[in-house]
Amino acid sequence: MDFKSSSGGGVSPWQSAQQRHLRRNSVPVGGSTGADTLQMYLAPPTGQISLEQFDALAVERLQVLRAFERADQCGKQKYSGEWSSFILAELKRQKLTTYLRLLDPRPDTSVDLIAEACRRDHVSHFILRLAYCRTDELRGWFITHELELFRMRFMAQKSGDSVVYNFLADNGINIVKVSDDERHQLWEELRAATARLGGALLDVTTFYTVPFWACVELVRGRRVLVRAGRAYLPGRDLAVVAANRLRAHLQRCLAVARRVLPSVESDTRLRAVLNDFDKQYTGRQYGVESGTTGGASVTPADLDQLSVQSFPPCMRQLHDRLRSTHKLLHGGRMQYGLFLKAIGLSLQDAVTFWRQEFTQVMDTDKFNKQYLYNIRHNYGQEGKRTSYTPHTCGKVITSGANDAGCPFKHSDRDHLVKLMQKFGISSQDVASVADIAGQGQPQLACQKFWQLRHGCEFPAGAVAHPNQFYEESRKQRTGAVSKHAGLDTSKYTRASLGGRKSTSGADGTVWDDTLTTEDMDEALSSAV
Ligand code: SF4
Repeated sequence: MDFKSSSGGGVSPWQSAQQRHLRRNSVPVGGSTGADTLQMYLAPPTGQISLEQFDALAVERLQVLRAFERADQCGKQKYSGEWSSFILAELKRQKLTTYLRLLDPRPDTSVDLIAEACRRDHVSHFILRLAYCRTDELRGWFITHELELFRMRFMAQKSGDSVVYNFLADNGINIVKVSDDERHQLWEELRAATARLGGALLDVTTFYTVPFWACVELVRGRRVLVRAGRAYLPGRDLAVVAANRLRAHLQRCLAVARRVLPSVESDTRLRAVLNDFDKQYTGRQYGVESGTTGGASVTPADLDQLSVQSFPPCMRQLHDRLRSTHKLLHGGRMQYGLFLKAIGLSLQDAVTFWRQEFTQVMDTDKFNKQYLYNIRHNYGQEGKRTSYTPHTCGKVITSGANDAGCPFKHSDRDHLVKLMQKFGISSQDVASVADIAGQGQPQLACQKFWQLRHGCEFPAGAVAHPNQFYEESRKQRTGAVSKHAGLDTSKYTRASLGGRKSTSGADGTVWDDTLTTEDMDEALSSAV
């Protein structure tokens, strides 16, 4: 539906409303204004922002949109109370306070804090447009979760609130409150059209009329009364009307952004941030600090017991394979070795552990020559001396070669069923896990596995990392609270981030990591 056209010549009501909204919501990236808490994202932000801020704001929004995705994956009914509570709990757990303020406004929140939250929301939305405009699939994902975010924000406003009226009017949606007299006259028809509200609720519901074309799916679904070209809908359905407008706007803007993306990416600094952004891991960086078992270290003697109690299936199968064959291929050694490092196995213990196993099928000399280097390399003691972090679920799921991989992704059903039974899942429950895996949801299947093994809900939202699986299991089994407490509070350092400001280059090059007004204008305007 094209909302733009309404009059033949001159400036249409929609265009002038847009211009009013643009003036009201022109937000500089570096400063705050009294912007409305609801946004149609018509005007791109202007001003300067550092590359690190650019990256951090984008990752923050990605975390928020993924919280909405997780709610869908966990089967929460959209826009229900349970769905909203799940999302607010996720945001709280990940300390995304900016978005908590927008989605769960408190009367005592200062105007400055709200304005800052709006600024971050505005800037990050335009950055993600650039990152998510590439393919139909990415555009679909982005629009779906942006609309969910938008509707939740809309629902958080009181329907009689001036914010809602201003927002709808600014976006060319002319709403009229139905008077008590008219409501009384149409009561029977309204009741028939909105039976889902129930008789009791109907009595206390405020109705509005909007042009019927602004809510065609409600009309199509016979969920509203239509009279003389206007649809009568309860206040809570105004969110549907506003979301329709935003959907149409985003579809058009993402198509435009896709066309201009090559010119935006000619700036290598932006390309480094935007490339593969959708694959960005947004959880905690495990293994950056030592041990995740509340600071306790793990020794080789603990591993058999820990593997049975708390290892995720991807690691437990590698442990079992190593114990029985005394060998693992390179992919499996990397996956398992980095996992062990992050749960607190020291370098010295790692060498002892791998040597004990490998020297059962080869001599010590061969082990030292061919395998010792890799173990030390994982711990940052060889080569570039980078201390590598353990693999995320995303990485394990996309591997699947040389012994690496996730059984929920890479095992056929028969093998998975046998594995689950071996790992202690009852015959009745095995089918439910295998069914979820069969639907292409390995992380959800893993979450179900965790719940069956521990007899309670997985407390950290959704399984995103093998070390998160392990850490939550240790907390559940021992009551130990890790110093990380399962919070996704990682510092989002991106290896791809280019162009740090530095004068220390061998050739004296100065790298500029600040995007200028022109850079920002050009990049973000492209996302309009
Ligand atoms: Fe391991 Fe993640 Fe697969 Fe679970 S979902 S088995 S933690 S890779």
